[in-house]
Amino acid sequence: MTAHAIRMTTTGGPEVLAYEEIDVPDPGPGQATVAVHASGVNFIDTYHRSGLYDVPLPFTPGSEGAGVVTAVGADVEAVAAGDRVAWVGVPASYASHVVADASVLMRVPDDITLETAAAIPLQAMTAHYLITDTYSLAPGDTCLVHAAAGGTGRLIVQMARLRGARVVATAGSDEKLAIARSGGADHAINYRTTDIVEGVEAAVGKDAIDVVYDGVGAATFEAGLAVLRPRGVMATFGNASGAVPPVSPLSLMPKSLFLTRPSLFSHMLTAAERLGRWNEIISWVQTGELEIRIGHTWRLAEAAAAHTALESRATTGKLLLTAGN
Ligand code: NDP
Repeated sequence: MTAHAIRMTTTGGPEVLAYEEIDVPDPGPGQATVAVHASGVNFIDTYHRSGLYDVPLPFTPGSEGAGVVTAVGADVEAVAAGDRVAWVGVPASYASHVVADASVLMRVPDDITLETAAAIPLQAMTAHYLITDTYSLAPGDTCLVHAAAGGTGRLIVQMARLRGARVVATAGSDEKLAIARSGGADHAINYRTTDIVEGVEAAVGKDAIDVVYDGVGAATFEAGLAVLRPRGVMATFGNASGAVPPVSPLSLMPKSLFLTRPSLFSHMLTAAERLGRWNEIISWVQTGELEIRIGHTWRLAEAAAAHTALESRATTGKLLLTAGN
C-alpha cells in the first residue's frame, strides 16, 4: 500500500511541511486503520509547526479527519472495515492513512459527506463546549465572538443563536462581516477599522456582554475585558494573533470577572461526553439548523499553502486537506 503524510523535521514556517511516502503499520489490538478522505486544518496545527506548542520531532501535524476503515486489530468491535468514521485527537492526521485507537472513532451517518464530517470534530465540538459548558448561553444573554467568519468563530455564532442568545461578532473585512451575519450575528464589527470597545458599546451599550469567546488572543483580550458586564466571563480559547501575556488577577477585580482558558481535550474526557457533543452537532446538521461551511480545500501535498493562507487571515470557514482516498 502506498501511503503519504506531511512530515516536519524542524519547527518553522509553512515550508517545513514536507509531503513524504510512509509505511502504515498493521493495526494493533484495539486499533483501526483508516483511509483518510479529508483531514481538518486547524490553527493549533500552526502552533505545532511554529514551535509555539512543543512537539516531538520528526512530527506529522493534524488531529482530525474523516475516512473509511480499512482494517481492524484484535479486540475491536466498535468499528469494522468499510465503516465511515470521523475523529479528533488522533495524532498525525495530515496523512493518507491513520492508525487510530478504535474507541475514539465516531460513526458518520450516510447522509453526511466525508468532507462535512471531517470539518466538524475539532471546531464544532469546541463551539459546542464553549456555548454549553464554559458559559451556558440562554435566551437574553449577549455574547461577543471574535474572528466570527473563521472556522470556529462562525460555528460559535450559529450555536449561540440556536441557544437564543444575542451575538455581537467581529471580523477583519467586509466580506467576513457578511459571512458572520449570514451565520446569525446580530451585530458585526470590522475590528481592523473600528475600535472594539467603541463598536461593541455602540451596538449593545456599556458593560453589556455576558461572555466573550476569544480565539484571537493578544490583539483582542484587553478590549474583551472592557466590554464585559460585572461578573461576566472571559473565555480566551486561542492565540491566532499571539498568546495573551500574563494577567494579574487584580485586573479582574473592578468587575469581579471570571477568566478561563479552556481546551477541547478537557471537554471530551469520556466516550459519552465526546459522542454526546458529536451526536447533537450531527443532528443539527441533518435538520439544517447548523451549516458547516467549508471555505477551502487543498490536496494533502499542499498543506504548506493551507497554513500560509490560514496565518495570513485570508481564509473563512473550515479548511480541509484531501488525501485522495
Ligand atoms: P480561523 O478559521 O478562525 O482562522 C483564524 C482567524 O483569526 C483569521 O481568519 C482571522 O480572522 C483571525 N485573526 C486575527 N488576528 C490574526 C492574526 N494576527 N493572524 C492570523 N489570524 C488572525 O481558525 P480556527 O477556527 O482554526 O481557530 C480559531 C482560534 O480558535 C485559534 O486561536 C485556535 O487556536 C482556537 N481554537 C481553540 C480551541 C480550544 O479548544 N481551545 C479549539 C479550536 C480552535 P479575521 O481576519 O476576521 O480577523
